[in-house]
Amino acid sequence: MQSSFAGEQLGKVCVLGLGRTGLAVADYLVGLGPGRVTSVSLYGGAKSRPDDATHALEGHGVRVICGTDAIEEDYDLAIVSPGIPEGSEFFVSAVEHSSIVMGEPEFAWRESPDRWVAITGTNGKTTTTLLATELLCCGGFEAQAVGNIGVVATGKVVDRSEGSWFVAELSSFQLTTSRELHPRVACLLNITPDHLEWHGSFEAYVQAKERIFQNLGEGDLAIVCVDDVCCRAIADRLEERGLRVCRASAHAIPDTPHAAYQREGRLVVRLDGKDYTLVRKDSMTLEGDHNVLNALVASALALEVGVSRDAVCHALLTFEPLEHRIEPCGERGGVRFVNDSKATNVDSVEKALMAFVPGTIVVLLGGHDKGTDLGTLAHAVSARCRAAVCYGEAGPRIAAAVRDADSGMGLTVFEEPHMAQAFDRAVSIAHRGDVVLLSPACSSFDEFSSFQERGRAFKDMVAGLDAGGRNA
Ligand code: ADP
Repeated sequence: MQSSFAGEQLGKVCVLGLGRTGLAVADYLVGLGPGRVTSVSLYGGAKSRPDDATHALEGHGVRVICGTDAIEEDYDLAIVSPGIPEGSEFFVSAVEHSSIVMGEPEFAWRESPDRWVAITGTNGKTTTTLLATELLCCGGFEAQAVGNIGVVATGKVVDRSEGSWFVAELSSFQLTTSRELHPRVACLLNITPDHLEWHGSFEAYVQAKERIFQNLGEGDLAIVCVDDVCCRAIADRLEERGLRVCRASAHAIPDTPHAAYQREGRLVVRLDGKDYTLVRKDSMTLEGDHNVLNALVASALALEVGVSRDAVCHALLTFEPLEHRIEPCGERGGVRFVNDSKATNVDSVEKALMAFVPGTIVVLLGGHDKGTDLGTLAHAVSARCRAAVCYGEAGPRIAAAVRDADSGMGLTVFEEPHMAQAFDRAVSIAHRGDVVLLSPACSSFDEFSSFQERGRAFKDMVAGLDAGGRNA
C-alpha cells in the first residue's frame, strides 16, 4: 500500500520537537503555503524555551508553544521528531489531539515517495549509508544521504531533482513510528542490545528495527546480515512473506538466490542467481570484518538499484574510513593511533578489536556508564589486548570486569581518572608495532559534549606527540 500525500491538503498541522528536525519540518510546511497547509504550530515540549530560531519561525507565521508537553488544540496531522518516545506524555497528547500522527522520515517519504532505499542496524548505519550513497553517485545516479545521519529528509524534499535517490539512515527511534514508509531496498546490519532504556525491552527494539521491511512487496529487496541470530530469524520471516531477501554474511556462503559474502578474500554479491565478483577485501581502506559486511550490504544495494559492477568496485577501493570510526590518525615511534570514538556500545568495540592483530592492542575504555552488561566485552579485551586503560565514570567498573575475565594472556589493566591521563598512560606503555585504540564502549557525556568532541580531543593529543611518541 502506498499512500503519498503528494500535493494533498494537509490542513492544520502541528510539529513536535524544537531540534533540527522540528525546525526543518516547520520551515518546509510554511513553504507549502495556504494551498496545502492551513496553519503550522510547533510544540517544543516541557523543557523548551523560546530562542532566536523560534522567533524567526514566528516571523514566518508559525505558532510556537514552549514549556509544555500538553497539545492544546485539535490538528489534522502531527509530525513527531525522533527522540520523543511513543509512551511519553507529549506523544500521547499529540495522539489524543490529532487525526494522523507520524514520525518525520515517514512524512518526508509521503511528500516524496519515489526512489528511497533505507538502512538500519545497531552499528554501521552511518558508514553503510555514506558508502551506499557514494556507490550510487559513482554509478552515475544522483543520490543523497538523509535521515539519522544528521540530514533531515523533509528539508531535502523541495530541492530534490527528478530521478534522484534518497539513501535514508533510519534509527530505531525513527522506525518506531513508521507505518507506511516504503523503500525499494531496505537493509538491516545487525541487532545487539542498545537503547533499551528507551524502547523498554530488547523485543521492542527488535520490533522497531524490523519495521524497516513492513511495506516491502514484490520486486523490492530486503538485505539482511545473517551473522547474528536475531537478524537470521528476521530473514526467515521475510522469506516466509515471499520477499526477495539477500542474505549477507562475513563468514558463510549463503546458498540463496540473493546473497552477499566473501569468497577467496573477495567480496561477492549474488542477485537473482547472478554472481558479481567485486574487490579483494584487503584492497579496501576500510578495516575489519564488520566493514566487509557494511561494504557487502552497500554493494548489494547499489547493484540492485542498477549501478554497474565496475562503478561499485571503483567506489569500494576509494572510500575512506569516516571520522571517529576506526579512523587511523597517525603513527609515532612505530605505534599506530586509531580513533574509534563512535564506538559507544559493547558490540562496536568487539568489532574494532577484531580489526587488529591480537596482542598488539592498547585499548582506551571508559566514559559515561550506561550500565551495559560487560561480560562479552571483558572477554574480548582479555583475549585480544596487551593492555586496557580504563578511565572516566565507567572506568572502575570496566577495569573490574576486565580483570575478572583475564584469561591469563598477560593483559595489564590500568585505571586513570580522565581520558588525557589514560592517553598518557597508553603512550607510555605502547611498544613499536602496537596500536593505541580509543574505542571506549561508552558515551562521552561525563567529560565531553559528544563523541565527535572526544574523538577530536584524542586526535589533538596524538598531534601533540613528537616523532618519537613523547609529549612534544
Ligand atoms: P551507526 O551510525 O550505526 O552508529 P557507524 O557507522 O557510525 O554506525 O559506526 C559506529 C561504530 O560501530 C563505530 O565504532 C564502528 O567502528 C562500529 N561499526 C561499524 N560498522 C559496524 C558493524 N557492521 N557491526 C558492528 N560495529 C560496527
